[in-house]
Amino acid sequence: MTLSKLRNVGIIAHVDAGKTTATERILFYTGKSHKAGDVHHGNTTTDFSPEERKRGITIYSAATTVFWRKHQLNIIDTPGHIDFNIEVNRSLRVLDGAVVVFDAVAGVEPQTETNWRLADKYEVPRVCFINKMDRLGADYTRTVTMIKERLGANAVMLQLPIGSEDHFEGVVDLIAERALIWPDENLEMAPYQVSAIAEALVEEARHYRQVLIEQLAEFDDDIMSAYLSEQPIGADALTEAVRRGTLCGKLVPALCGSAFKNKGVEPLLNAMVDFLPSPSDRKPIKGFSVDLDEETEREHRVEEPLSALAFKVVSDKHGVLTFVRIYSGVLEPGMSVLNTSTQQKERVGRLYEMHADKREPKSKAKAGDIVAIVGLKATATGDTLCDVNVPIVLESISAPEPVIDIALELESHSAQAALMASLHGIVKEDPSLHLRQDNETGQLILSGMGELQLEVSLNRLRDEFDVAVKAGKPKVSYRETITRSALLRYRYKRQDGGPGQFAELELRLDPLERGAGFQFESTITGGVIPKEFIPSVEKGIVNAAEAGVVEGYPLVDFKVTLLDGAYHEQDSSMVAFEKAASLAFKQIASSAKPILLEPVMSVQVDTPIDYVGDCIGDLSKRRGLITEQIPGSAMAEIKAQVPLTNMFGYIGDLRAMTSGRANFTMQFAQYEKVL
Ligand code: GDP
Repeated sequence: MTLSKLRNVGIIAHVDAGKTTATERILFYTGKSHKAGDVHHGNTTTDFSPEERKRGITIYSAATTVFWRKHQLNIIDTPGHIDFNIEVNRSLRVLDGAVVVFDAVAGVEPQTETNWRLADKYEVPRVCFINKMDRLGADYTRTVTMIKERLGANAVMLQLPIGSEDHFEGVVDLIAERALIWPDENLEMAPYQVSAIAEALVEEARHYRQVLIEQLAEFDDDIMSAYLSEQPIGADALTEAVRRGTLCGKLVPALCGSAFKNKGVEPLLNAMVDFLPSPSDRKPIKGFSVDLDEETEREHRVEEPLSALAFKVVSDKHGVLTFVRIYSGVLEPGMSVLNTSTQQKERVGRLYEMHADKREPKSKAKAGDIVAIVGLKATATGDTLCDVNVPIVLESISAPEPVIDIALELESHSAQAALMASLHGIVKEDPSLHLRQDNETGQLILSGMGELQLEVSLNRLRDEFDVAVKAGKPKVSYRETITRSALLRYRYKRQDGGPGQFAELELRLDPLERGAGFQFESTITGGVIPKEFIPSVEKGIVNAAEAGVVEGYPLVDFKVTLLDGAYHEQDSSMVAFEKAASLAFKQIASSAKPILLEPVMSVQVDTPIDYVGDCIGDLSKRRGLITEQIPGSAMAEIKAQVPLTNMFGYIGDLRAMTSGRANFTMQFAQYEKVL
């Protein structure tokens, strides 16, 4: 399989647009062509035994491989719910192209918009699939217009629907100038029949083909010259031009269909092959030297040294599967690789290519591939794996701030060790989850991005790891910060029998802007504190900051400068300096006017225009600041910044206020001072 025949594709959608249905159909249609001669399958889901199905879904939740027209498609899952935004983020990071599924009735929905912006950020070429053409009120043209207006994308129609709603029969293929018709209900998942375009649609098809050519001519010289000289432009030339335009982000092809009725799926598969990039079409992957000082990059080639990114870790009772995207070089079972994020060497056990219903062992994986590794012990999501002798650190997957806490309590004390092991497993899988212990109450606190995400984690503890916990009510995860600078000289001295402990430090503490995190600098010269103790000072500060000084929430956005200090030949040690730094930090932070910060969310409400006034009034009552209001013909969009603490239970209130017709998404924006 050459690299040019590989596609790493994600499927992105708002919840309920039909991503799962479309993916199932893709698995079905490709499975059938893969196993030519098979008798008809009926419905894919019924084909798997419950156990296989369960496994199929878990596996598919990361990546699955299918084949179409002699191309390998690795389909990477991207959950729709905002709580799992980290998953969309990390998927976009490792995929090369995406299919965005829209509901032809609802059009562009809030979550699609959020994900679309993420795909813009990662420069991922896209194909749009306007699904649910069989539904009452389905409108392909309106949805394409919304994509243009709301997402600012140059969407081009490659198809026209034939019939609509109950009478949706198939599509006109504008490029090849033909009609593709599927049987009425198509429960058998029959392929399409090709026919001539019906008389009634000929004129419209000609018009839209011309529109397509004009859109392409705007940036494609080949099409431009053919257009100007009024030569006929063949299907191949058009397909190639659409591919060029899609790859460089100048356009987004739009197709339509009904995944549920098995109409339009094969053309979508063709579009993935024809228009989405292979790894070699993408820019080289960027990274840094291990000390993060120098930028470097790797070409997507087998001949380059190995570089790979772990983008998902799945652990269950049977062990750990680490999903990696290989950017360059080759990976083989038994190989030693370097994890440059932890600086540990890891041994690759077995390698698997994942299919929906099975996993297939591989003796070798190479640049462009997505595979699952068994046997890695210390690799977390976002870590780089590379050639031991040619290290590189790829840009990690940035995790959003966790903003909601729940306190966990064990139902039986004997299960403490099992709970910790399972929790560590879950946190390793998902970098947007954090675990800490409250210093005062001793409670374990799990923090995440939303109630749903935490609930799913608790269910997993119970179902997958057999650990029963009682969870407190979800609470807002506050932060602390300081508001002014401070200086402190601190001496730590213990002399209670045995070897003494001595460390002396002079620290300066300065506030940093919101979101800046933690910085540490040492200006020690002349060895007043030996070099080997300085990392211990930093560690002591990090630990103390984690425990906070106001109400026990992590302290953020500050800089500590280690200015001076002293040590003792016998009594100073790493432990003494760490301890001294922790104690000194508590004291200096308390004197720097510490305050509480609360998470403020970007909230986007989509509501029928009749309810705009009510929604705005309600958001204001929640201390919301309305930032934007975009009127539409039937629906309006309201954007606001609202403290998370006032958003609990919002979905219920919004539904009640709008007779269930409004929708919203929310995403962490920033921490702000609690007023
Ligand atoms: P997801 O949340 O994006 O994965 O959406 P699902 O695939 O679970 O679909 C959500 C609902 O829409 C389900 O009830 C599907 O049966 C239905 N659905 C999916 N595709 C279509 C379609 O093409 N037409 C119609 N009428 N319903 C569909």
